[in-house]
Amino acid sequence: MTLTDPMQALVELHAGNRRFVTGAQRHPNQDSRHRAAVADGQHPFAVIVGCSDSRLAAEIIFDRGLGDLFVVRTAGHTAGPEVLGSVEYAVSVLGTPLVVVLGHDSCGAVQAARDAARTGTSPVGHLRAVVDAVAPSLRRAAEQGVDDIDEIVDIHIAHTVEALLGNSAVLAGAVAAGRCAVVGMSYRLTAGEVRTVAAGGSAAAPAQADRAAAVAG
Ligand SMILES: [Zn+2]
Repeated sequence: MTLTDPMQALVELHAGNRRFVTGAQRHPNQDSRHRAAVADGQHPFAVIVGCSDSRLAAEIIFDRGLGDLFVVRTAGHTAGPEVLGSVEYAVSVLGTPLVVVLGHDSCGAVQAARDAARTGTSPVGHLRAVVDAVAPSLRRAAEQGVDDIDEIVDIHIAHTVEALLGNSAVLAGAVAAGRCAVVGMSYRLTAGEVRTVAAGGSAAAPAQADRAAAVAG
């Protein structure tokens, strides 16, 4: 399957998540024949910039298989240079039409950043880089009077969408040209459900995302 339309890619993702939530998974593209078929080249229809959390495995929660998703994961979906380069590779070289920032409730990285801010301490080692990268989202949440951890997560997802577009001219250009869309989704650990919390690049994008969810659901 080669998808080039951002909306169609969004519909596919929502449809797969709906199958996962309802226990109607099809486990597509996981057989040996497909494995051999994609060995010569990949055309993933979505980039997932997700949190590394072990309960957030992209191919499982979107009911997809080999060659479908180009997955980049860091704790707290922080988007440093290597993440941006990976997203740009997928969008510009592979022609992937959709980028999804995938966060989730009870995110440990966001909690760690909040704990560090509250106690005025910094974690040791490179964990500090993760906490520092989440800190701007915490400041934005504080400015908005938001204290609930899951609401902070949604703010952080929206912030990551903005950061991708603001720091990658390649991605912003693809979005401006209509070749790609960027959407932020929040995943519920218990329900297994994603919902759209942010969209970048087009004023119409949030409404489009909701329509895609309605089509799929
Ligand atoms: Zn997380």
